[in-house]
Amino acid sequence: MILLDGKKTSNEIKEEIAKKVVELKSQGKKAPHLAAVIVGENGASLTYVNAKVKACEKVGFDSTLVSLPIDVSEADLLSKIDELNNDDNIDGFIVQLPLPDHIDEHKVTLAVNPMKDVDGFHPENLGRMMLGLPCFLPATPAGILELLDRYDIETSGKSCVVIGRSHIVGSPMSVLMARNTKVGNCTVTLTHSRTQNLEQITREADIIIVALGKAEFLTADMVKEGVVIVDVGITRVADDSKKSGFKLLGDVKFEEVAAKSSYITPVPGGVGPMTIASLMLNTLQAIDMK
Ligand code: NAP
Repeated sequence: MILLDGKKTSNEIKEEIAKKVVELKSQGKKAPHLAAVIVGENGASLTYVNAKVKACEKVGFDSTLVSLPIDVSEADLLSKIDELNNDDNIDGFIVQLPLPDHIDEHKVTLAVNPMKDVDGFHPENLGRMMLGLPCFLPATPAGILELLDRYDIETSGKSCVVIGRSHIVGSPMSVLMARNTKVGNCTVTLTHSRTQNLEQITREADIIIVALGKAEFLTADMVKEGVVIVDVGITRVADDSKKSGFKLLGDVKFEEVAAKSSYITPVPGGVGPMTIASLMLNTLQAIDMK
């Protein structure tokens, strides 16, 4: 079994990006600037946003964190987005999800200028992805492609099962794995909560991408020997032995599934850091798109 080490790979990518930033600056250009908007103080969201801001500092990007109170009105949030859309200094920005219930997430996604949408959630970017046109790919699926690519995992002609059909992970992932690209050309099955006989489907799979948000859902009896496993799930589970009071679990029962896998991502240290790396890559791309 080989660990698909997202932490190590993302550090390599960050070093490559840092070199490009030095190059840009030596040509008299400015460093890429990523802004992140966070509404409220949800613990997990704060952790993710802080990790993104820290990653910006590490590669030499400029970064701006916009923290808005939990009771910010939808109109005020949209007006902040408008400001970021029109700020020439900002190359790309993200609005950390989830948002409080009184804010319509679709309205917010649509309000982001597609040219600055480095999370790749805007319908224009998703549509361009479907057509294979230049666009920002959604950060988590893009990070997974990059990881599979850098580990030289053969995907062509393989059967790939994606568990979960969210707009930000499962659905775009299924499209990307089926594309006629180096990492792609899979025969893809997209599964969800209404899928029947899921174990039968996963047992046939060469590659399984698990993104349903249920801790340790995928067990050894659901996979075949030699399978490639990508675990997207992150669930916080109480753990008194940790300083934070919780530990992170993926959607895969790691030890037993790892024993049957050829490659597997850990949680933490797998897909999470790759998502951040692809956000950085998208921000760098935003400069070229300008
Ligand atoms: P989501 O919006 O919560 O959707 C979950 C999906 O799983 C839905 O499509 C649902 O089906 C499906 N599902 C639920 N129970 C199922 C079952 N028993 N069998 C098969 N499918 C089932 O998911 P998400 O936003 O993609 O997040 C998934 C997980 O990934 C979460 O743990 C999240 O924290 C994590 N995540 C991690 C990263 C990262 O960077 N590592 C990024 C994003 C998300 P229905 O559509 O039928 O309801």
